[in-house]
Amino acid sequence: MTGMRIAVLAGGIGGARFLLGVRAWGLANGAEVTAIVNVGDDVTLHGLRICPDLDSVMYTLGGGSDETRGWGRADESWTVREELAAYDESGWFGLGDRDVATHLVRTRQLSDGLPLSAVTANLCRRWQPGITLLPATDDRVETHVIVDGAAMHFQEWWIRHRAELPAERFVFVGAAGAAPAPGVLDALGAADAVLIAPSNPVVSIGPILAIPGIREALAARRTVGVSPVIGGAPVRGMADKCLTAIGVPVTAEAVGRLYADFLTGWLVDEADEAEVEGVKVIRTPLWMTDETATVAIVESALAC
Ligand code: GDP
Ligand code: CA
Repeated sequence: MTGMRIAVLAGGIGGARFLLGVRAWGLANGAEVTAIVNVGDDVTLHGLRICPDLDSVMYTLGGGSDETRGWGRADESWTVREELAAYDESGWFGLGDRDVATHLVRTRQLSDGLPLSAVTANLCRRWQPGITLLPATDDRVETHVIVDGAAMHFQEWWIRHRAELPAERFVFVGAAGAAPAPGVLDALGAADAVLIAPSNPVVSIGPILAIPGIREALAARRTVGVSPVIGGAPVRGMADKCLTAIGVPVTAEAVGRLYADFLTGWLVDEADEAEVEGVKVIRTPLWMTDETATVAIVESALAC
């Protein structure tokens, strides 16, 4: 359908892969695509504001991501990290030299007073992602994990501790008082279809949904989600640890039920069965092995 508008809620790596398929479908069918990306992972390290999910999407769609490593920039070098290590400051977060330039530009523009949405648009002038890339909010929303009664930043729990410390719960600090970034509610309101990428439901989609106004906007649209769980496992990564921490079974059905209040359709893999009250469940292959396979997933979602 020419002129169709599609909005996508997305986290980092899973979100980026899915968006490659949505963009390709959009190009072939004359559709406009807007991605609304999680900011709960954002963190300040060495004075630099880092937005891992926005950067994963921007680098991937801009052709600048490292496909083998799965995150960060292609052709990366690590001199800054080595020099930091010489000061005993290497830290647990992989900061590549090329990546640092992105964070320097972002941090300077933020300190000049630009909102994150404007900074993201500026960074995208270089990367030309072919879609509109919006942070879910310009306000600061950070995912914290409660371990032994104390809060730590999600990135520290995830990367430094490899999600091995027992999490009591996740808190989206700042979300209740945050507003959707400019363009977010417009994109959702104008969307012929809203797609929920197969991103981590707890810490990628969860913080977006915690921003007042977004869940309600989804409930008013045709919203179709794609399961990030296939055959009881999170495909890649450690998303199962987040689900287990909040007492949700690692099944496509249980993830669908987290979204049941706003979903029209829920895509699960052929390996799975799901019943979600009031939601049309479609079984179709959900492995994003390449762009063609991902386009087929997008097609099934849009046919829902
Ligand atoms: P992150 O923010 O970088 O962790 O990335 P996301 O939250 O956007 O996506 C991570 C999730 O993508 C993982 O937890 C997986 O469950 C999911 N995922 C990765 N590859 C695939 C795939 O090929 N198919 C499906 N259905 N899900 C996938
Ligand atoms: Ca993330």
